[in-house]
Amino acid sequence: MDRKGLAYELRWLALFVFIGGIIGLALEALRVCLGLAVFLFLIWHFYKLKKFEEWVISIRRMKKPVHNFDGIWAEIADDITRLSNRYQKDKLRLQAVVSRVQEMTSALTDAVILLDSQGNIEWWNTAAQMMFDFRNIDLGHKLINLIRHPRFIHYFEDGDYSEPLDIDSIKKNGQRLQFQIHLFGHGDKLVIVRDATRVYKLEQMRRDFVANVSHELRTPLTVLHGYLETMADNPDLPKGFEKAIVQMQSQGERMRILIEDLITLTKLETDERETHFEEVHLASMITTIFNDARALIGDREHEFTVKGDTEVKIKGNEKEVRSAISNLVFNAINYSPKKIEVTVKIKKTHTSVAVAVRDKGIGIDPKHLPRLTERFYRVDSGRTTALGGTGLGLAIVKHVLLRHDAELKVRSMPGKGSTFTCHFPLSRLVESEEHAA
Ligand code: ADP
Repeated sequence: MDRKGLAYELRWLALFVFIGGIIGLALEALRVCLGLAVFLFLIWHFYKLKKFEEWVISIRRMKKPVHNFDGIWAEIADDITRLSNRYQKDKLRLQAVVSRVQEMTSALTDAVILLDSQGNIEWWNTAAQMMFDFRNIDLGHKLINLIRHPRFIHYFEDGDYSEPLDIDSIKKNGQRLQFQIHLFGHGDKLVIVRDATRVYKLEQMRRDFVANVSHELRTPLTVLHGYLETMADNPDLPKGFEKAIVQMQSQGERMRILIEDLITLTKLETDERETHFEEVHLASMITTIFNDARALIGDREHEFTVKGDTEVKIKGNEKEVRSAISNLVFNAINYSPKKIEVTVKIKKTHTSVAVAVRDKGIGIDPKHLPRLTERFYRVDSGRTTALGGTGLGLAIVKHVLLRHDAELKVRSMPGKGSTFTCHFPLSRLVESEEHAA
């Protein structure tokens, strides 16, 4: 762009100096007149500056800013007009995007709530308003003061949002809500709440079905078991029947274990999590599991060791933790074909209490590891069936750990052995007296 504003102003300055000079010569007061000429020039520009300032303030109200400046002021005014037009266009475009997003989120059946880094509500959509009865005065208030469910408050404050939280709605009886929090920006939060009632009901139906079938199967199985025992004890049993009865007894026993495992699993899934836990001394518990194991394996060569921080106690459900660790120990035994060498190491770190069950057995191919805790997932179903495994052991372990806010990590190498480690959070640690003092 051709900018001649500065030259224009310089021409005016030259004219002021020229006239001042002529008058100065005529009056024989050259310096005074030159100074006066420059001063007048400055006054004139201050006047223009003032007019310019008024114009800048007024353009906010103008749709299409116009001006009648000249020289350098006209050029600056044109620049400002261009910037202002661009700003107006951007503003309109952004307003259109914002209203489109608002229309979109209003159409959502999921509730969307926007929080700042302090957890204060900034915005919500129509579904959130209907779900939680939010009113305008709730804007800027903490969400945990409005949704006061203890499990939601714990989830919100815990900061681990990798998994969603399912809780019963306080407002609507029988409604199940699923909360998922996403972090963005500098600690801001997007809370999405879904109505998960249908899925929850289906899930409940599945659990009830499995629980009922398992219970119903228990009685006929006990009867069959009883008769088989009586027949096995009968000395007049025709030849050839013995083998069949022994096989029926062993299959019956497998079925019994399977049913017991299914019942345990559904109980772990359906029972509400306890809030009061007992103190569990891990090393003593593991020693009793080892004693049970010795009694079961008979005279096979074995070496059981418990080591590490053997004084550690955790807060938990003793029965459940015992069932999880004994599942891991019995797996270590079952999948060690030669000498059984099982080591359980308890280690307190600055993030968790880890209980690692290590064996030198057959190991597992890494490709199976992600699916290991699925129900009935078996690496080698032929071998597992021969060992009497149900395929539910690790699923039980996973559920027990979930109920204790803990997680299972597996490391394994085929032919070298496996390590199954349960990581309990430090919040579960029972501080020893000298430690606490
Ligand atoms: P199962 O009753 O079949 O042992 P689990 O759920 O306890 O069921 O284990 C699932 C599968 O994981 C097993 O079938 C087995 O293939 C594998 N597995 C579990 N523990 C070990 C282990 N310590 N060493 C090798 N494989 C294991």
